[in-house]
Amino acid sequence: MARPIARGLLAAALFLAHSTAADLAPVRLPPTRPAAPVLWPVTRLANTDYVNASDLAERFGLRIERARSGSLLRLTDASGVRLVLEDHNRDCYLDGLRVFLGLPVLGAKGTLWVSKIDVIKLLAPLFRPIDHLQFFPANAPQTIVLDAGHGGSDPGKENKTVGVNEKTFTLDVVLRLKKLLEAQGWRVLLTRADDTRLASDQITDLQRRAGFANQNHADLFLSVHFNSAPSAITGIETYTMAPQFMLSTADDKRDEMTDKAFPGNKLDYANLLLGAQLHRALLAGLKTPDRGFKRGRLHVLRFIECPGALVECAYLSSDAEARRVATPEFREQIARALADGLKNYSAVLETLRPKPVSPVTPAPTSSHTK
Ligand SMILES: [Zn+2]
Repeated sequence: MARPIARGLLAAALFLAHSTAADLAPVRLPPTRPAAPVLWPVTRLANTDYVNASDLAERFGLRIERARSGSLLRLTDASGVRLVLEDHNRDCYLDGLRVFLGLPVLGAKGTLWVSKIDVIKLLAPLFRPIDHLQFFPANAPQTIVLDAGHGGSDPGKENKTVGVNEKTFTLDVVLRLKKLLEAQGWRVLLTRADDTRLASDQITDLQRRAGFANQNHADLFLSVHFNSAPSAITGIETYTMAPQFMLSTADDKRDEMTDKAFPGNKLDYANLLLGAQLHRALLAGLKTPDRGFKRGRLHVLRFIECPGALVECAYLSSDAEARRVATPEFREQIARALADGLKNYSAVLETLRPKPVSPVTPAPTSSHTK
């Protein structure tokens, strides 16, 4: 399910409408030295700790441009707009990606505020993963588990007008992606390789998919789905596990799940890096609307012990998009975009890792010096 476009986002969307595929090329983060742990100054507003947008800007070396009487802030540096925040909006734009926060941006005291949990568990690690290096997996990923959503008696979304269903397309994309990744040297395992499901009840089925990744010591887990919405919207969504204490994108208020930590939270920062790279690559490869990089406590992600993400590659509820997905060419495009995202994730991880120090070559000595 998708949420409607957040109110007032149009300006930011228009602002970013000139984005080209080049803008969406993977952002290679500068391998700067890890900073000391950041203690963010917080202010208590509406019973929640918030960080002032000015402190975000200062910490990340950004300038603030105000628009619409300050209800929209663009945080920029020499490379352009890095972050767009708008009062009341739960989504923001970070390096051109539409990223959903746990809580809406809050306008107060003449400026904008982002909740502390969103800063420390979402924006800061996405902005400066180098500061969170100790929480990333030590080794480059080699084994990936690909999970074709649904299967067997569970068809997933069906579009009767076009005569297609989700389970067939998820398997097709996963098989295409497997080939591409194996050609690049990955070890690829599938939760299902034919039209079956892993258990007759849905929760067990989803948990077994995660369990399969754990049993096989996967380095990455990717679940492939197609989306459904009551309206005729199109585009892509990417989900990663909601960090502990953060609302999932589908929720408006806290519940007993919000404060729980799951095994899938152990690698929250790597989840984010993976999700962002997959989302960026899908946008660049498919030239499709950005429905958002979101958080969810999805059953299939709760118990995985490696970084993981779930992608919704298109809306089968849209007849136009379902017809597009029905072509093998488009499904190959999806697989290629996902392969790009995985490659970019590995490449960014590699740039973050400290490089071995090469032995110092002694300066040539001259017999005349002593
Ligand atoms: Zn699905």
